[in-house]
Amino acid sequence: MIRVGRFPSQDGRSVAELFVYARNKTVYPDIKIMPLVCPACRRPLEGLYLHGGSRYGFVGNHTCDYCDAKFSITDSDNTVEELRLYHLHPETKLESNLTLNYTKLYRLEPKVWDEVQVLTGYDIYAGPERIQLEQVMDDIETIKLVDLTFYRQQAEEEISKMPIPELPDSIVRWFALQRSMGLDQIKG
Ligand SMILES: [Zn+2]
Repeated sequence: MIRVGRFPSQDGRSVAELFVYARNKTVYPDIKIMPLVCPACRRPLEGLYLHGGSRYGFVGNHTCDYCDAKFSITDSDNTVEELRLYHLHPETKLESNLTLNYTKLYRLEPKVWDEVQVLTGYDIYAGPERIQLEQVMDDIETIKLVDLTFYRQQAEEEISKMPIPELPDSIVRWFALQRSMGLDQIKG
């Protein structure tokens, strides 16, 4: 896994290129950059990581910055909605499993999209099945004509206090947009 910064691109957009799939009233992301949490000590690792693809569901191995635990990372070998992290302690043989669900972490659940439609008229299910989240946000911002500067500060502050305190830039924008719609109280 490669650690990446939050603002790696030239044009100010996140390199995340996070696509969402919307069909049958279900929305899920195909993540590209994401935070990781150590399955052994449960601490969020510093920074964000680039998902460089997987082979038969195997994404890679990684070592925790804090407790030195080596763990494996697997996905569903298709669109990447969640990652499964697994650590086997070499001496105690104690197993630690952790599943990181990015639909939940990034607040992309169907409930949120239902609210977005009620508040703005934007219907995620009416568009293409696979759409970039940045594009979705551009469309919603065009409908709402909202300046996110203020909400962005609030979103940054909120995220810094979360158990996983660093999220991709596109998700900071998404949280800010949700706040501008009064959606920040909705939890999955
Ligand atoms: Zn650890």
